[in-house]
Amino acid sequence: MQLYNTLSARERAALIEEAGQERLTISFYKYAHIGNPKIFRNHLFITWNELDVLGRIYVANEGINAQLSVPAENFEAFKEHLDSISFLENVRLNIAIEQDNMSFLKLKVKVRHKIVADGLNDATFDVTNKGVHVGAEKFNELIEDPDTILVDMRNHYESEIGHFKNAITPDVDTFRDSLDIIEQDLSEHKEDKKLVMYCTGGIRCEKASAYYKHKGFKQVYQLEGGIIDYTRQVQNKNLENKFLGKNFVFDHRRSERISDDIISNCHQCGKPCDTHVNCANEACHLLFIQCDECAAQMDNCCSDDCKKVNALPYEEQKKLRKGKGASNKIFKKGRSEVLKFKQ
Ligand SMILES: [Zn+2]
Ligand SMILES: [Zn+2]
Repeated sequence: MQLYNTLSARERAALIEEAGQERLTISFYKYAHIGNPKIFRNHLFITWNELDVLGRIYVANEGINAQLSVPAENFEAFKEHLDSISFLENVRLNIAIEQDNMSFLKLKVKVRHKIVADGLNDATFDVTNKGVHVGAEKFNELIEDPDTILVDMRNHYESEIGHFKNAITPDVDTFRDSLDIIEQDLSEHKEDKKLVMYCTGGIRCEKASAYYKHKGFKQVYQLEGGIIDYTRQVQNKNLENKFLGKNFVFDHRRSERISDDIISNCHQCGKPCDTHVNCANEACHLLFIQCDECAAQMDNCCSDDCKKVNALPYEEQKKLRKGKGASNKIFKKGRSEVLKFKQ
């Protein structure tokens, strides 16, 4: 029984190229109680490997989070298999609009402690007891309701470049922090207000809504499929778009423009700008907002210090990094004292 990849990424790429196969990039997630994630993991690997499915999948006691590439000709069989698993029957599949046959080159199914890193150690809370899911149309209605409190469940660098009109955007670096801050700030309104929340693709709200219900909030709603699906529905059904600016995404594109509004500023000169970059100094790699002029003037760096380091020959840079090997792995997104115009 083969439970792991036997082909390297390069061999796989060559095979896909040769076969000229059309592949679909798909993502889905589901919170469910999985008793033995290891057995479930092996079952998925064996079945999906036979269907030539590739991707990155996390399985935990709390559910599954999957990003996949499926040969178009095997899609029906893949869907049938999903439907044969009780908690995955009719699960909502997000199919990427832009197809990329090489989006994944291996099948990796990993058992994790959680499918979303949430920092919670609360065994009494049931993540499947979630809030009411609403689509774009109902969401548009709800967020105009004076009894609604609209909360952005993402981190500061995500909501900075784009968010829904009138949303509360907590100034947080982690999901855990936003859970706490929102609970504190809204503790007076557990019964009288509608707590409506959204995130990028829905998975964070799924957990947050269950958490707030557990904490005593009576009317909890979440945007189904997040900003990504909201945008699709707005286009398909010709609804009013109430999202301003860009949606931050976690792949090489960094963001998708949703409306023409530019709601953030260049962190270096302060003029309107919503382009995220990473500092060109590899040892820094800070994520921040930089306009084209500042990029040219600063050689794509966040500070004069980084500009100096970046101008050194590569070997010199390596020497400087020695002994500080992990410095660019430190989680620092969008915050640094060198950024004058970071609000
Ligand atoms: Zn600038
Ligand atoms: Zn830098």
